[in-house]
Amino acid sequence: MNLLKAIDEICIKYNERICEIYRDSKLTYGNLKKYSDALSKYIILKYGKDKSPIVIYGHKEHEMLISFLACSKSGHAYIPIDTTFPKDRINDIIESSSPKLFINIGNINIDKFDGEMLLQQDLKYIFNKFSSSKFDESFYIKENDVYYMLYTSGSTGKPKGVQITYKALKTFIEWFMPYCKTREDESVFLNQVSYSFDVSVISVYIGLLLGKTLYVIDKEMTSNFKDLFKNLNISKIAMWISTPSFAEMCVIDNSFNKLLLPKLEKMFFAGEVLSKKLVSTLYERFDNISIINGYGPTETTVLVTAIEINKNMLHSEEPIPIGYSMNNSKIMLVDDAGMEIKNGEKGEVYIIGDNVSIGYYKNEEMNKKHFFTIESSEGVKFGYKTGDLAYKKDGIFYYCGRKDFQIKLNGFRIELEDIENNLRKLDYVSNDVVLPVKHNEKISYIAALVKLNKSIDEKEFKIAMKIKNDLGKLLPTYMIPRKIKLVDKFPINTNGKIDRKALQEDLK
Ligand code: AMP
Repeated sequence: MNLLKAIDEICIKYNERICEIYRDSKLTYGNLKKYSDALSKYIILKYGKDKSPIVIYGHKEHEMLISFLACSKSGHAYIPIDTTFPKDRINDIIESSSPKLFINIGNINIDKFDGEMLLQQDLKYIFNKFSSSKFDESFYIKENDVYYMLYTSGSTGKPKGVQITYKALKTFIEWFMPYCKTREDESVFLNQVSYSFDVSVISVYIGLLLGKTLYVIDKEMTSNFKDLFKNLNISKIAMWISTPSFAEMCVIDNSFNKLLLPKLEKMFFAGEVLSKKLVSTLYERFDNISIINGYGPTETTVLVTAIEINKNMLHSEEPIPIGYSMNNSKIMLVDDAGMEIKNGEKGEVYIIGDNVSIGYYKNEEMNKKHFFTIESSEGVKFGYKTGDLAYKKDGIFYYCGRKDFQIKLNGFRIELEDIENNLRKLDYVSNDVVLPVKHNEKISYIAALVKLNKSIDEKEFKIAMKIKNDLGKLLPTYMIPRKIKLVDKFPINTNGKIDRKALQEDLK
């Protein structure tokens, strides 16, 4: 598949069809092509064969989509930066990636950048001025070129630029596209996930390749329920794509149901643990949908496993599975010595294949630590050590937490996510986060932040006692959190996941 040509063909075929709706504004497929061609012509004219990455700063404006395509059509990798990123972080990214062009759709003032900056009004001018001149497809991004670069947080405090090649992106899309089919050809995909988080690739690239209409839910809407529900109600969404946290937020309101989204067919979740409670609530509210869970780190291009969650899985002893491995890549489970383990046992997830990133941008130290290469009959393949723990049963993978969430407390090895999963088994717990609390760099006890799914008319300490008691029936005493704090909601980070860092800070 030639991704860019395939999108071009869709744009020509569905010229008048709406490719994106953002509040009152609509972008047609025809204009997506016209404007992205124009911008890429401008970039080619200005930068020729120079391949330096381009920063695209903004939120969910149509110009974001247009700019992504324009970069790829002119042979450049792009770095999407969401407007929720703080300025220091943006400066770090600029310092690390040395872009010559900054497409400033979100209109931020950056003083430490001496390259070219294109504002919204410059883009408008370019869309008009360059719309009719001839277009040179020889600049289109090539198989082994970096297609996009996403900056993820690094343990050193400096973000790491994950380089995803065109080949890696295509490997993901070819495997995952069938999961995204909807009954009607002309249907709507939710476009809510931040472009700085790679799950957004599903709406953008698979959505466009299937000729769908992307319906934008932006950060203003998500922070105002009235606005959010008004938009959902008119959206006609058939395919939902988000983190579980975003759906958790929506289900708080009982009107998040079939009447609100009558066209909904599929809900796709990724990025963090999907709880049985959320799945069963959703199946109750929308009786005729399918729910899909997907798993994967940014470093291996969006997802590497996926599965449709059936109702039997809700009654099983196992957690919700993360699914079957993609068919064009290999997932291995290894022990501490890096040796492949037996079926059913828990091990670290290693991923090997064309979907794996070629490494962090100019960061040899981290590359040595997390990436490796192996020789295969098809040539050298990249591998990535995820730091995630999982086991496999009957060909299906089950996630059991992060290796680095494994702690030692009083000599006991404890997986924090094990406690989290058991807390979720209590029928009055809607969600929870378990964190270690340190004193003088040493873990002194475990704390659990718990959100209830119904209000209990008791003092907080009595509820905490009840939780400890009930958890004591499921876990050994050394795993029972000393502190239980009730919360109304969890803070969410840019990627739409629960913000563990902020919660950890609060516990200090
Ligand atoms: P990111 O690189 O931001 O996409 O984060 C990837 C990490 O999120 C993975 O390494 C997992 O630890 C976690 N993750 C992603 N998807 C899932 C899932 N479906 N269930 C549990 N954890 C997940």
